Amino acid sequence: MRYRKLGLTELNVSLLGFGASPLGDVFSPTDPEEGTRAVHHALDQGVNLFDVSPYYGVTLAEERLGVALAGRRDSVILATKCGRYGVDLFDFSARGVAGGLEDSLRRLRTDYVDLLQVHDIEFGDTEQIIHETLPALKHLQKQGKTRYIGITGYSLKTLLHVAAAVPVDAMLSYCRYNLLVTDMDEALVPFARQHEIGLINASPLHMGMLTENGAPEWHPAEPAVHAASRRAEAVCRAHGVSLPEVALRFCLAHLYVSSTLVGMATRQQVDENLRALKDVDDEELIAEIQAVIVRDQNVVWTSGREENYG
Ligand code: NAD
Repeated sequence: MRYRKLGLTELNVSLLGFGASPLGDVFSPTDPEEGTRAVHHALDQGVNLFDVSPYYGVTLAEERLGVALAGRRDSVILATKCGRYGVDLFDFSARGVAGGLEDSLRRLRTDYVDLLQVHDIEFGDTEQIIHETLPALKHLQKQGKTRYIGITGYSLKTLLHVAAAVPVDAMLSYCRYNLLVTDMDEALVPFARQHEIGLINASPLHMGMLTENGAPEWHPAEPAVHAASRRAEAVCRAHGVSLPEVALRFCLAHLYVSSTLVGMATRQQVDENLRALKDVDDEELIAEIQAVIVRDQNVVWTSGREENYG
C-alpha cells in the first residue's frame, strides 16, 4: 500500500480508502458479517482510511463499521461526518453537529474521530456553515473529539467558497474526478495545492456506474451518461479487463489527491480494488474508452440549494 499525507495534517492516509456507505445498504442489501470481514481484510492489506457518515443507511453504516472496528480502532484513520442525517434531513447548527458527533462516537465505539467533516455543505446556508458550523467543529477539535476538520460536497463552487472563508484541514469531493468527469482538477485542485488542504476524491466508480452492473436506480446522472458508461464497459469487456479496475486506477494516478475512497462491502471487492494499485499502463485503453464517452463527459447534475449549484 502507498500512503500520502493529508494536506498539512499528521494523517498519513492510504492512497486507496475504504468508503463505508455500502455497509449501510445504500447501493443494495449487504451481508453484515461479510462487511466486517471486508473491513478486516482491507485493514490487513494496509488500507487505513475509513470514511462513513450517520447519513449512510440512516446510521446503519456507522453501526456496522463500529462493530467491525472493535479492537482495531488504533490502526485506523477514522473519518465521519455531521450535518446530514437523511435524504432531506439536515442540521448544520452548532448544537446539532455536537450532538450528531456524540451519537456517531457511540455507534463507532470510540471517543474521538480523526476527521470530522461537514456533510454535503451545498445543502446548507453557507453563511451558517462558515460562521456557526465550522466554528463548532473547531470547538469539538479543541475538546479532542476530532483531530481534524473538513468539508464535503458535490458543488465545487461551494467547497471553494467555504474553504476560502474558513481554514479547513481537508476537503472531500465526489463524482467530480473519474473517467466520466474531471472538473475537480481545474476547479478545486489548484486552490487545495496552494493552501495545502488535504484532498479526498470519492466515488471513483461514479457511485457504482463504472461497474459491470451499472448504477443504482437512485443515481442522479442523465440517461446519456448511463449509456456512455455502458459503452465504456463494452470496451473493457472486449479487452478482457475490468472497468472498475481501470476506472479506479485512473483516479489513483492523481498526483495531489491523498486518498481515493471507493465504496466496498465484500472481501472480493477489496481484492479487486487493491489490484488497481498495481502499475499498469492503461494509456491506450483509456484513450479508447474516452473516444466512446467523450460527448457525455463532464456532464454534471445540480445538488443542494440553488444558490450553491456549481
Ligand atoms: P463508488 O464510486 O465508490 O461506487 C461504489 C459502488 O461500486 C458500490 O455499489 C460498490 O459495491 C461497487 N463496487 C466497489 N468496488 C467494486 C468492484 N471492484 N467491482 C464492482 N463493483 C464495485 O461510490 P461511493 O461508495 O459513493 O463513494 C465511495 C465513498 O466515498 C463512499 O462510500 C463514502 O464513504 C464517500 N462519499 C462521500 C460523499 C460525501 O461526503 N458527500 C459522497 C459520495 C461518497
